[in-house]
Amino acid sequence: MKTLKPGDRGKEVLDVQSRLRALGFDVGTDGVDGLFGEDTRTAVELYQQQNGLLADGIVGENTWCELVESKYETGERLLYLRIPPFRGADVVKLQRSLNCLGFNAGPEDGIFGPITERAVLDFQKNSGLIMDGMVDDSVLRVVEKVTKDGEPHVDETKIPDRDGGYLGGRDLAELTFAIDAGHGGDDTGAVNSEGIAEKDVNLRVARGLTRLLEASGSQVVNTRDGDQDVPLYERPAAANLAGADVCVSIHHNSNPSGRAQGAAAYYFCRQGYYSERGRKLAEHIVARLAASLKITALPVLGRNYAVLRETEMATVMVEPLFITADDVVGRLIDDELTDRVAEAIFEGLREYFAS
Ligand SMILES: [Zn+2]
Repeated sequence: MKTLKPGDRGKEVLDVQSRLRALGFDVGTDGVDGLFGEDTRTAVELYQQQNGLLADGIVGENTWCELVESKYETGERLLYLRIPPFRGADVVKLQRSLNCLGFNAGPEDGIFGPITERAVLDFQKNSGLIMDGMVDDSVLRVVEKVTKDGEPHVDETKIPDRDGGYLGGRDLAELTFAIDAGHGGDDTGAVNSEGIAEKDVNLRVARGLTRLLEASGSQVVNTRDGDQDVPLYERPAAANLAGADVCVSIHHNSNPSGRAQGAAAYYFCRQGYYSERGRKLAEHIVARLAASLKITALPVLGRNYAVLRETEMATVMVEPLFITADDVVGRLIDDELTDRVAEAIFEGLREYFAS
């Protein structure tokens, strides 16, 4: 799939514009004209903001998938467990309704997986319906009746996942970690004034963290172990396949100003639903990074990035440093700083599991 950006024209742009308009976004006076102009860029940014995506006004893989899945309305198709799973706004709404009614449908990730099916079966049992796991009119009618107007809660209310914030005093040696070094290959990420690329810093931190976790007896799977380009959706798929307990995706920040500094982390959040485990994990890691590197702890933020949404375990995306910060730029040539970053993330993980 091709990335669409301002200045592009053609059938794909037309497709994006009509999808945005169908979702109620203003694509400007010229409307659906196949030209990615200023109005389209504004509409894309607005859509991205409302959906927790990186608001860059560019239609990349994550935005494109979300846009396609946004169009599904409740009742327009039969939902059930299948491979590949049904995905979309109708699934989000179903999960939200079931969670709100006390049936654990799992993360509100818009993916109809086994946990959602189990919640549907429970719901059918409780409602005296045939327990077949099929979300048909009979199920939707009952859901509609017991949730006011089918809208279980307003988007402004943040609803944490139902598993609670902690995995509960588990030893690192019992756990499997998925470590995802962001970017790789042709996708370099940001490059600082010393010519050091984010992809390489990410990989060094990932390797350091892997060593520390393995030394503690943890199992570790890496989404890449060299300088290769790994497609965006293959990263969470690898973490899921490994049955990891926690996934840590490592990126680094950059800014035109050398004064921008601080440690940041993100957890899954979309339209009010968020991962409480992810949030707590993010807070532990950022606090440890800030203390150990003597930098600012930036507020942890909920985001709908692919790696956060598609993973079945508690996932955090960490940006330990700005590789462009004045006092960092010259210190990324050897492993001293990246090893300290890895240690701080490791300590943050350890503290989270000890709490
Ligand atoms: Zn990055």
